[in-house]
Amino acid sequence: MKIVKLFKNKRPVVSFEVFPPKPDVPIENIYDSLDKFKDLNPDYISVTYGAGGSTRGRTVEIASKIKNELGIESMAHFTCVGHTKEEICALLDQMRSHKLENILALRGDPPLNQPDFDFSKNPYRYANELIREIKVKNGFCIAAAAYVEGHVESARIKDDLINLKRKVDEGADFLITQLFFDNRMFYDFLDKLISLNINCPVTAGIMPVLKADQLKVIAAKSGCSIPARLVLLMDKYADNPEDLRKAGIEYSAAQIRDLVENGVDGIHLYTMNRPKSTRKILEQAGLLYRMHQEAYVSKQLSSFPLF
Ligand SMILES: Cc1cc2nc3c(=O)[nH]c(=O)nc-3n(C[C@H](O)[C@H](O)[C@H](O)COP(=O)(O)OP(=O)(O)OC[C@H]3O[C@@H](n4cnc5c(N)ncnc54)[C@H](O)[C@@H]3O)c2cc1C
Repeated sequence: MKIVKLFKNKRPVVSFEVFPPKPDVPIENIYDSLDKFKDLNPDYISVTYGAGGSTRGRTVEIASKIKNELGIESMAHFTCVGHTKEEICALLDQMRSHKLENILALRGDPPLNQPDFDFSKNPYRYANELIREIKVKNGFCIAAAAYVEGHVESARIKDDLINLKRKVDEGADFLITQLFFDNRMFYDFLDKLISLNINCPVTAGIMPVLKADQLKVIAAKSGCSIPARLVLLMDKYADNPEDLRKAGIEYSAAQIRDLVENGVDGIHLYTMNRPKSTRKILEQAGLLYRMHQEAYVSKQLSSFPLF
């Protein structure tokens, strides 16, 4: 099923993001977590595409397992950096052969240790060009990345918003945001999208902070700002990993509760392959029971023939 259809009947659409195990670890290592994620009844699960090529081959394989064996809709991430047009066509064919219908189309980051990498030498310089190509090939539901506080490379947030509009105009069906910790910024971002006439569904990306050193790494990589109350919370529990984990879970749950109350289209949880924390966040956000109920009703309905 094309994920964009889910937004027509449901709010919020709840999705999980997982990443493939490293190449030297058996792929089966993720299967146990996937089974546990299945029990939580997400609307779909997305699978990241390894930066630098390390786990690239595993994305489609895992997305296929999720869809064709576990019976949950899936979405494969794809970054075009460092790929030829032929490789991209081959990947889309591979996805089709696994009956995968959803793709998160990304440009990707510069290769490791090449911060000045010249993207103009790529067949597709920006994600909007990749989206245009996939749209022409047709048949895929396309998601694109959005940055609540602007992409790190953009000198001005306004420029990044204009570039985001290009992605939607070229064919992105819905957007998933990079993580953010301050919901007010997300609401402000939505207002800006309306003023730019960007009307597709927007899913909020939520990442729990579960370890003391994680916050700095996240801020450095994503460029997102850290609200003072989150810094204080992390400082308070810096010497107590278990309490810090609980505080991180509660922070994400509170963020989600507020987003749901304000009618968010979707919640995308960066799960870091941790079903236990994911379950706790959804439980505390008041979504878990609702997701079970919806899954039960949908199962009952699908077992009744219409005529
Ligand atoms: C939800 C989500 C999932 C992700 N999953 C992965 C993953 O699985 N694997 C991975 O490696 N990375 C992933 N990323 C990270 C992503 O690859 C990086 O953020 C990357 O630097 C940008 O990719 P993009 O598709 O947003 O690029 P683009 O949309 O191309 O934007 C990149 C930069 O170029 C600018 N720009 C865009 N178009 C134009 C234009 N036409 N003219 C001038 N400037 C332009 C933008 O403003 C931005 O600053 C993910 C990010 C998000 C938000």
